Amino acid sequence: MTTEDDGDNMTPFEAVTMFFHEVADDIGIDDQTREALSGTYREIRVQIPLRRDDGSVRTLYGYRVQHNGARGPYKGGVRYHPHADLDEVRALAALMTWKTAIVELPFGGAKGGVQVDPGELSEGEKERLTRRYMTQVSYIIGAHRDIMAPDMNTNAQTMAWMMDAYGQRGGHTPAIVTGKPVPLGGSLGRDAATGRGAVIVMNEAVRDMGRQPEDLTVAIQGFGNVGSWAARLAANEGYRVVAVSDVNGGIFEHRGLNVPDVMSHARESGSVVDYPNCDVLTNEDLLELDVDILMPCALGGVITKANADRIAAKLIIEGANHPVTPVADRILDERGVTVVPDILANAGGVTVSYFEWTQNIQQFHWEEDRVNSELAKRMTRAYQEVRDHSRMHDTDLRHAGFAIAVDRVATAAHLRGYV
Ligand code: NAD
Repeated sequence: MTTEDDGDNMTPFEAVTMFFHEVADDIGIDDQTREALSGTYREIRVQIPLRRDDGSVRTLYGYRVQHNGARGPYKGGVRYHPHADLDEVRALAALMTWKTAIVELPFGGAKGGVQVDPGELSEGEKERLTRRYMTQVSYIIGAHRDIMAPDMNTNAQTMAWMMDAYGQRGGHTPAIVTGKPVPLGGSLGRDAATGRGAVIVMNEAVRDMGRQPEDLTVAIQGFGNVGSWAARLAANEGYRVVAVSDVNGGIFEHRGLNVPDVMSHARESGSVVDYPNCDVLTNEDLLELDVDILMPCALGGVITKANADRIAAKLIIEGANHPVTPVADRILDERGVTVVPDILANAGGVTVSYFEWTQNIQQFHWEEDRVNSELAKRMTRAYQEVRDHSRMHDTDLRHAGFAIAVDRVATAAHLRGYV
């Protein structure tokens, strides 16, 4: 399907689609089903005129892509980022379809994005942008049609504005978004869920390698929602978290960082950099550190053929979506590096989003212990199914995960009579 040379130049959607086709070949998906599952169901682009604080108007563009709804309502986050174009949002929507299938949530896959650098916006501008985006896409969403959630540069506050904007037309509908603040119907444990899920599958992979957390060092790229929770929970499990980074750069301490203290520092100063008594390093250096485990928890496409040979970690947990390009994936596999893929490793977020959605529909609030134990049960089961499939079919965890997910979505599509 591709060559070593062009693989790194694929767009994010082409890369995700390539994994789909490789697996469709392996598990014998027929051509009609393949055609239906490889494309997206619905895509919209909306114009967002944003009134700036100085009175000027800037025209932005936002997207919502619904990839596949065979297994249930569309579900997926919304990101604000300069690279959040239609192709990126398509790729993330497709990953959501496979992710919800791996953890057996009754959802399809969707994603949204606004192409903007949120660092340039005030809180008021972000609020106006969010309300306008939600109003513009409201024609195709609904609590049983398509449900939003946070992603890069969006958070619980963003979800509160979205819920409010939707409610102005549709009436009070908490289930229209997940990842809301708890006082508005958010779930306890949702904030930590993606990082927690990543650490749960990391523990499973470490056990399979016959190793102990106490003997292992971890480097984490990205110190936002996913990365900071992953760091904190990994440290609680006994791993030595030696390096973390954010968009401004990274820090390294070979004896292990005091993660709660780094979190306080980042909250106060806006970044992990300048944390005292640490070595400073770049994001590129962090990826190549001599550690046992690497957790990319920021952007896609950070491990490419240019650096895959220099990744020293033996285990990679993909907290971020598509952090490894297809060519890099092959190089890592040949080098014996185990990669727990995004569609499994970061599925904890959408899993607790599902719990939040069910709580909203039932108007019944769960205790945090229940959220965390149900999350652990689902993530562990999903990891074990993927691991067992990979052993049985002598394939890597990514292809095993895709195989399970594609089979589940294809079965649902056939049962409905789509194909
Ligand atoms: P976030 O906005 O909370 O944090 C992003 C972090 O990445 C920040 O620390 C930021 O400084 C850092 N970053 C941004 N650009 C960077 C760069 N060029 N180099 C290094 N670091 C950079 O976002 P998040 O919600 O933590 O999402 C991170 C990743 O996890 C994304 O790929 C997202 O799609 C994925 N993800 C998030 C969730 C969720 O529940 N939030 C669920 C599944 C997957």
